Amino acid sequence: MSMTLLIHGGPILTMDERQPIAEAIALQNGDVLSVGSERDVRDAIVGDYDDIALHGRLATPGLIDAHAHVVMVGMEQREVDATADTVSSISEIGAKIRAATVGRPEGTWIKANGYDQASLAEQRHPNRHDLDAAAPDHPVLLMRSCHHIAAVNSRALALAGIDQNTPDPDGGTIDRDEHGEPTGVLRENAVGLVEDVMGEPGQNEIEAAIIAGGRAFAEAGVTGMHEAGIRRAEQMRAFQSVYQRGELPIRINLMMIIEETLDELIGLGIRTGLGDEWLRIGNAKLFTDGSIGGRTARMRQPYRDQPHNYGIWMEPPEVMKEKIIRAHAAGFQVGCHAIGDAAITLLLDSYEEAQRRFPRPDTRHRIEHCSIVDLAMVDRIAQLGVVPIPGTSFLYYTRPAYVENVGVERIRYAYAMKTFHEKGIVAAASTDAPVVPVDPLIGIQTMVTRRDRNGDPAWPEEAVSVEEALRAYTVNAAYAAHEERRKGRLKAGMAGDVTIFSADLRDVPADELTNQHADMTIIGGEVVAERAWAAR
Ligand SMILES: [Zn+2]
Repeated sequence: MSMTLLIHGGPILTMDERQPIAEAIALQNGDVLSVGSERDVRDAIVGDYDDIALHGRLATPGLIDAHAHVVMVGMEQREVDATADTVSSISEIGAKIRAATVGRPEGTWIKANGYDQASLAEQRHPNRHDLDAAAPDHPVLLMRSCHHIAAVNSRALALAGIDQNTPDPDGGTIDRDEHGEPTGVLRENAVGLVEDVMGEPGQNEIEAAIIAGGRAFAEAGVTGMHEAGIRRAEQMRAFQSVYQRGELPIRINLMMIIEETLDELIGLGIRTGLGDEWLRIGNAKLFTDGSIGGRTARMRQPYRDQPHNYGIWMEPPEVMKEKIIRAHAAGFQVGCHAIGDAAITLLLDSYEEAQRRFPRPDTRHRIEHCSIVDLAMVDRIAQLGVVPIPGTSFLYYTRPAYVENVGVERIRYAYAMKTFHEKGIVAAASTDAPVVPVDPLIGIQTMVTRRDRNGDPAWPEEAVSVEEALRAYTVNAAYAAHEERRKGRLKAGMAGDVTIFSADLRDVPADELTNQHADMTIIGGEVVAERAWAAR
């Protein structure tokens, strides 16, 4: 295979202000060799090259998702899909579970999701005997679509210590046969008896999830992502092993969740930036509050119709502030989950105090999600040089729940990309997948239309252009990880990461952007994902 790749027949959106649009780009030895007119780029190439003709499709710097969970995306991909769309009988579910056991060590949990006995040929719940036949050596948890009932096999019952002598737990039922033996069907709180013993996945499982999840991102046109949090040795070992084998599908920054590990990290002198452009330690992270949907994000004013509910703090605010300041002093970039305006204010206070006590240039501390802010807070974000990581796909799904829980006025500046831009704030796009799908086009459409999936508007004053949305997904996301010298723009010497879309997104009607696709994903000059019917 040739080490040089020529992409031509543009438009190529470079995010390089000196040459925003180009006709052609050449990638060589992993990096950008030349960008410009087709003639100039061809002149720069010496020797053989592979060739991709855009035919008017848009190429951009490789997209970077600034906050998502690649391991969880991969775990979900590896679960068995037992929804009514995909199976019509218990024997089909059994066949899928049997296939899922292949390559997984004995004793590893198999999770399956979404069955509904009403749409199964047998017209009954699957039981332990069905699941034992499919997977005698692996514990199996098969969740019904409602998530309140599950079927498990004998291995799972044994691990949970459930037998004929086990009483039903409070608020739950263990179904039993005519001899009093558990059938494997568990209802409500009885499901928790099994979930409690599933434990954390081991290193092999995590490695497989990194690969499966990373591929899902690559297929969606994403070349890099900021993994929103690891806290266990198995996770770090898994990322390092996959990286050392050269099997990382995309480039990954690891946020370090410091709730329990801050002392160890400081003790070892580990800080943001360790690693290389494939695998690198990113920001230190805490969860300061919860979510708007769960009415747990910490607010300055109470939730609608609940005058005493302000949401929750994950730890006492003074404790979190002290951890943030210590992480800052130890050289970390800090970026904490903060959704409610009280939680975001705590972060701004902490970052300001950290900087006052331990001044450091160009910290770029981040606010993960950064949902509920007012204009005064936006001004503070600008003044402190803080980088918001808005959940740029959230409103597409959650606008009704946001309005229901906090009212329309309080979401005036939620994920306000236009205002952020006007105030000179660098805000990076993110999905928080698997909370929402990995597909960046959902976020791009939502930034451009400010409409949810029903077409209802959420402050369309904050709508931005396709170019601006792509900027949030490329150069801004690179900036959010101090990587803008290598990633997020296409010019000579930058990493050879390119996303090719199925059309020129600037010409697509804004509310049809989600119908488009990533046709090709290129990382370090190599095509890592390609839609089967995409033109080349
Ligand atoms: Zn997250």
